[in-house]
Amino acid sequence: MVSCKDVSDRADALLDGELGPWDALKLRLHLAICEGCRRFVKQLRQTRDLIRHSARTEAEDPPEAMIDQLFARAGAPGDDPLPGPRPDG
Ligand SMILES: [Zn+2]
Repeated sequence: MVSCKDVSDRADALLDGELGPWDALKLRLHLAICEGCRRFVKQLRQTRDLIRHSARTEAEDPPEAMIDQLFARAGAPGDDPLPGPRPDG
């Protein structure tokens, strides 16, 4: 019989799909009857989703330093005033 400790030890593997079908079934049976473990696995999954989501967001958004470099290379607008005829002559 699967114990609560077994669930906490193998919850990561369960969420990763690394357990064999029989082991996964045994853990899921325990989750069906044990509310504490159900809550534990749910929180673990939410935490992992959050971490994965924040990692993805960081990869998509360029760091501020990179943006500054791009602006520096392009030249800030308004740095050299355009030479032009003076209105009065
Ligand atoms: Zn349990």
